[in-house]
Amino acid sequence: MSRIILSCGHEVYDVKHAYTIMTKSTNRYGDPAVKYQTVCGPCEDRYRQQGQIFDTEQEAFEAIQRAEANYDILDKIVGERERGQV
Ligand SMILES: [Zn+2]
Repeated sequence: MSRIILSCGHEVYDVKHAYTIMTKSTNRYGDPAVKYQTVCGPCEDRYRQQGQIFDTEQEAFEAIQRAEANYDILDKIVGERERGQV
């Protein structure tokens, strides 16, 4: 019997009980990012209930693009404020 430690920190004894998911995340600079991780069933359920899971790479890619666009708008507003243009 093999012991498997998952990204969520929980242990399972069979890889059939491990689920690789894509979730909303940020990188170390706070930029929007997709996180690939392998978690146990209860953690997969929790991420899904919280609406944190992307079901397809396309969905993840589009969400990141939207988040980055919002980021750019925010950067522009902050930049204009700092320059006294707003
Ligand atoms: Zn877990």
